Amino acid sequence: MRAKGRTGWRRWTLRLAPWLGAVLLVWTAGRLLVHGLPAWLGPKLSPSSPVQRLPAGFDTVIIDPGHGGNDSGASARGLQEKRISLDLAHRLAAELRDLGFTVMLTREDDTYVSLPDRIKFAQAVPAAIFISLHCDYANHASAHGFEIYRAETKSAAVLAMVQTSAGSEPLAIAEAQLAGAIGNSLSAGLRCDHHEIRTANFFVLRNLDMPALLIECGFLTNPEDAKALADPAFRTKLAGAIARGIAFYHSSVSSPAVQEVITVGDHPGNAGAAL
Ligand SMILES: [Zn+2]
Repeated sequence: MRAKGRTGWRRWTLRLAPWLGAVLLVWTAGRLLVHGLPAWLGPKLSPSSPVQRLPAGFDTVIIDPGHGGNDSGASARGLQEKRISLDLAHRLAAELRDLGFTVMLTREDDTYVSLPDRIKFAQAVPAAIFISLHCDYANHASAHGFEIYRAETKSAAVLAMVQTSAGSEPLAIAEAQLAGAIGNSLSAGLRCDHHEIRTANFFVLRNLDMPALLIECGFLTNPEDAKALADPAFRTKLAGAIARGIAFYHSSVSSPAVQEVITVGDHPGNAGAAL
């Protein structure tokens, strides 16, 4: 009876296989449409499956608070981008240091630092990743949520530096995985679904030969986003979620010993926030 049962089960499995394949195909196509990123470029969600090591092994996070000094960035609803980005940078630095990372800021206070100087600062740091923090502005108050940007293409100088037998692809994959990990952590930690992962040719992204992302931490022009960003408690939660995303990415490219001590997504979210 058992042998016959197993044969029947096998026959059903064979009949179901094409349907399961079709469902998988539709799901994958849907992911591509929504996220614009092949699934294999997405973050590896299981800590038991370490991703490609290149360019892994970082122990330093360079945080780049957008704007500063005479450059206020966007301003809306009583908030200035340069102030929010600096405050978030300090909160993120504290979270990351708690997790054991070395942290450096491209500006510590309200001073103007040119984009080339930010690049020069970062390029001098070995084994690092680069996270630029900004806030968004839109003509329509309805635009809201996070946007995480990675480089669409690297500059010719960077491409010459990062060429390996696999081309510059490992760096692009690393940036996509880091962006995915931070996006997932933002969604989980803040209980928000609205985040986009995009590519752009921002100066700081194009000109760095390390994994570099720019996070637009919400729209100052959106009432809910602005209200949330004005709240120090929310900014701490936001910084914590970004830090856990970075830690998760770090665990996926590091040794099993590191994976054991870093966990992600076990913090209560902020149900009221639009971000
Ligand atoms: Zn900005």
